[in-house]
Amino acid sequence: VPGDSIRVHIIRIQARFLAVLAEDIGEEQRVNAMRRDFIANVSHELKTPIAAIGLLAEATQEAADDSETVRGFAKSLVKESRRLGELSRDIIQLSEAQSTLRPEDRQAVSLPALVRREVESHREFASQHGVELVVTGDNGLDAVIQGRAASLSAAVANLLSNAIRHSPEGGRVGVGMEVKRNSFVVTVTDQGEGIAPEHLGRIFERFYRVDGARTRGEGGTGLGLSIARHTMRAHGGDIDVWSQQGVGSSFSLTFPRHDAEDAEKSTKRLKK
Ligand code: ADP
Repeated sequence: VPGDSIRVHIIRIQARFLAVLAEDIGEEQRVNAMRRDFIANVSHELKTPIAAIGLLAEATQEAADDSETVRGFAKSLVKESRRLGELSRDIIQLSEAQSTLRPEDRQAVSLPALVRREVESHREFASQHGVELVVTGDNGLDAVIQGRAASLSAAVANLLSNAIRHSPEGGRVGVGMEVKRNSFVVTVTDQGEGIAPEHLGRIFERFYRVDGARTRGEGGTGLGLSIARHTMRAHGGDIDVWSQQGVGSSFSLTFPRHDAEDAEKSTKRLKK
């Protein structure tokens, strides 16, 4: 009976529609849960320095004529407000990194030049930690992408500062650059303590720290790698990690190169 087959067809379409809807609702709930988690985490992270600043300010008021104590409190106040500044900077950077790149955000960025600049600006920090920074594979070839220079610099800077902070004194941090046909790869390798396999899959999560208390004391916000990953993905690239405990870690940023494609396209256009 044709009516029946139409009815079966309609039921099938309805079932498919409901399945898609259920998937959408599932996705929406997941996104909402992630958003709630993130806000809870942010509030928690902000609460600590804010509370400390409040208590220190009160204590400073009470210790007004004891200059030694006041100086001690002032030092802690500077530390806590710096931490608050870093947190708000990283939260803003994360929200920027998560937003899609608008055409006006894109500018021509020379990647080898950007990496070299970041390496130079980390030399002082490295020598303070007794760490040697060594650049390899910078073969003079250029790799230009259209992107947001400030965010890309921040991603490279994060890998460098992590590698330096996790290096032993006298250690070496290698910065490799490789210009491939369709990609440009920057690899930052350290001889630090390495990351255990159970943490390796989680270090790109927001606020995830392998050793919370220790790294928090050192000033890390736990957002750096998450910002770097969002930045790379917004640029069509990605970030990867290799690590072995007791040996070290190696993080690589892979950028797609459009100039190779564009050059090919324009050659083809010329041939036509
Ligand atoms: P943080 O601000 O804590 O450095 P990140 O997002 O940059 O935050 O890194 C997340 C965690 O990954 C760090 O807390 C640290 O435990 C681990 N990690 C990152 N880089 C390295 C590295 N080079 N060697 C060892 N552990 C690392």
